[in-house]
Amino acid sequence: MARTPAVGQWRAAALSQDRVADYKPFVMVDGEGVRCSLYVSGCPFACAGCFNEAAWSFRYGTPFDDALADRIAADLAHEAVQGLSLLGGEPFLNTGACLRVVRRLRAAHGRAKDVWCWSGYTFEELLAEAAAGQADKAELLGELDVLVDGRFELAQRDLTLAFRGSRNQRVLDVPASLAAGRAVPRGGLVAAGDVGTPPDRRALI
Ligand code: SF4
Repeated sequence: MARTPAVGQWRAAALSQDRVADYKPFVMVDGEGVRCSLYVSGCPFACAGCFNEAAWSFRYGTPFDDALADRIAADLAHEAVQGLSLLGGEPFLNTGACLRVVRRLRAAHGRAKDVWCWSGYTFEELLAEAAAGQADKAELLGELDVLVDGRFELAQRDLTLAFRGSRNQRVLDVPASLAAGRAVPRGGLVAAGDVGTPPDRRALI
């Protein structure tokens, strides 16, 4: 059983070490289209069966630094790239690095490129965190286009689902959800296997 924090209990300011487990440019499995994926380090949800248990430690991986920020910005500028994907670890407990990358993307590309995020928090939990004054979580949520939310539940694992591992998790349209004040599923999902012939990755690097 994954852990569930009280509202405001877990904060990036106290937990994050600003480290990343991995960065993968030009991938086609972490959301729709060609994407640049940042995997941050540290996740206290501790879901049984987690796909990335090594990244539970906030000290795992390497420091997020200016060189990586510049590299991500340059990769995101490629015309074939649809957007940024934030994964973990827990992005909402690593808001320093995530917001740096997202703010730079928005400054350069506005909403022409999208931001997807996988979080162990549910949308409702993030709304409660924002209402309780967790400004970094509120800002990151407000910048997302798509949120894949909730803990991975081993008893509900379903490998046929697009972009998520268990049936309790949802793929949400964040602007629509924020406007409605409730979770709104993202329609018209295009799974990785449905997007046609992938581009030659070597031409993008
Ligand atoms: S929330 Fe995600 S990264 Fe964190 S333990 Fe659960 S499955 Fe792993």
